[in-house]
Amino acid sequence: MPRVLIAGGGLAGLSAAAALGGAGFSVELFEARPFLGGRATSYPIPAGEGDAPTIDNCQHILLRSCVNLLDFYTRLGVRDRIRFHREFHFLEPGGRASVLRRGRLPAPLHFTGAFLKMKCLGLGDKLGIARALLAIRRERTTRRDLDRISMSDWLLEKRQTPRAMDRFWRQVLVSAINEDLDRMAARHGFQVMWLGFLARADAYEMGLSGVPLAELYGTDAWRRLPGVHVHLRAPVESIDAEGFLVAGERQTGDYYISALPFERLAAAGLPAPVLDHSPITGVHLWFDREVTTLPHATLLDRTMQWMFNKDGGRYLQLVVSASRELTNLSRERIIEIALDDLRQYFPRVREAKLLRAHVVKEQRATFSAAPGTEALRPGTATDIANLFMAGDWTRSGWPATMEGAVRSGYIAAEAVARAAGQVGEFLLPDIA
Ligand SMILES: Cc1cc2nc3c(=O)[nH]c(=O)nc-3n(C[C@H](O)[C@H](O)[C@H](O)COP(=O)(O)OP(=O)(O)OC[C@H]3O[C@@H](n4cnc5c(N)ncnc54)[C@H](O)[C@@H]3O)c2cc1C
Repeated sequence: MPRVLIAGGGLAGLSAAAALGGAGFSVELFEARPFLGGRATSYPIPAGEGDAPTIDNCQHILLRSCVNLLDFYTRLGVRDRIRFHREFHFLEPGGRASVLRRGRLPAPLHFTGAFLKMKCLGLGDKLGIARALLAIRRERTTRRDLDRISMSDWLLEKRQTPRAMDRFWRQVLVSAINEDLDRMAARHGFQVMWLGFLARADAYEMGLSGVPLAELYGTDAWRRLPGVHVHLRAPVESIDAEGFLVAGERQTGDYYISALPFERLAAAGLPAPVLDHSPITGVHLWFDREVTTLPHATLLDRTMQWMFNKDGGRYLQLVVSASRELTNLSRERIIEIALDDLRQYFPRVREAKLLRAHVVKEQRATFSAAPGTEALRPGTATDIANLFMAGDWTRSGWPATMEGAVRSGYIAAEAVARAAGQVGEFLLPDIA
């Protein structure tokens, strides 16, 4: 069978490897780091911090509408490690909770009952949101400017109240797209609301891995795909028509896939798109006692945006997306802000002792999904006939997410299969 070389062991490279390995190709995958998963991974926190627990570099969430990501997990035999949650808890400072869950009505009315009961929004906010959701349904196929205008432009056009902006749209979309509403192309906001909330009643259900992320791509998983060979600590130094240079040695194949982050392409000798980054900050806090029983919550009106309960309410992970305002703050200051925020929602934090804290600032978390960006995202084909591109930054049809990365991997794998004269069909269509 044809031999395919893949550079990069993030989700884009891994999904291409799984698809091609499953179709009988011989695949060699080269990853620079000693573990797989790229930005969606886990590792023990650095020495010098006690007994070094393993953490996800950041809590990663998926929705049921991430059909290609779920398909990839199925290929690796780890689909059952993903646990789905049906309730979203919106917490106000003071601790009052509003719960969003689906009721009995069919989509797109499935949230009606829960939405009407949400205490964090007033009637005027809700009527405005409902009007805007109906407009998304209508305009998503008819409007031609969604790539050019920002989501906040569109929401202001729909006369959303300040509270609806802050407590609904910003809260949901900034963490989904990792960009502020005024820097996010409306197209992406539409896609999240359509595929996550409107198209199907169960699409919004939030999947969290029950094991550290790196375990999803562990060696056991690859035993199912004997044609795939993974090389760790194997940085690809350059890529050209002659093949890969890996640790000074020339590696050749019939086909090549680069699944490197876009900021690494130039160093490998490949043309790179001009995209900006948007940061994410994760704060990991370990307490001496349980401070909450909620599995997760979205935190309104403060700096921290999401709380995930990682271990019996004693280990919490907090996430701030598009976290530019934290970029220049010290880790100590970020921990202070996090604790101060948590005391507002979870009174037990006031008595609890903080045993350990760890901050992960990912300055290059994702590309910024700004208006005009779609046209800058390249497709999978390159000037070299047997070299294909993958990565969440390529034109996958999705923003920079795990689903986007897997889609890009499947698209590149399909291109390789086609070039080899096969009908490789790996990409699954969106739910609607
Ligand atoms: C903090 C954070 C939180 C996130 N939260 C979510 C979330 O909740 N839900 C969601 O869907 N998405 C989330 N994302 C986005 C998601 O993680 C990414 O979109 C996705 O993992 C990108 O996969 P990728 O394969 O395209 O790129 P990467 O994961 O960056 O993979 C590229 C790989 O190439 C390797 N590499 C680099 N240079 C070389 C070289 N020279 N040779 C060989 N290998 C090399 C890297 O080590 C890496 O493993 C988050 C991202 C971050 C950073």
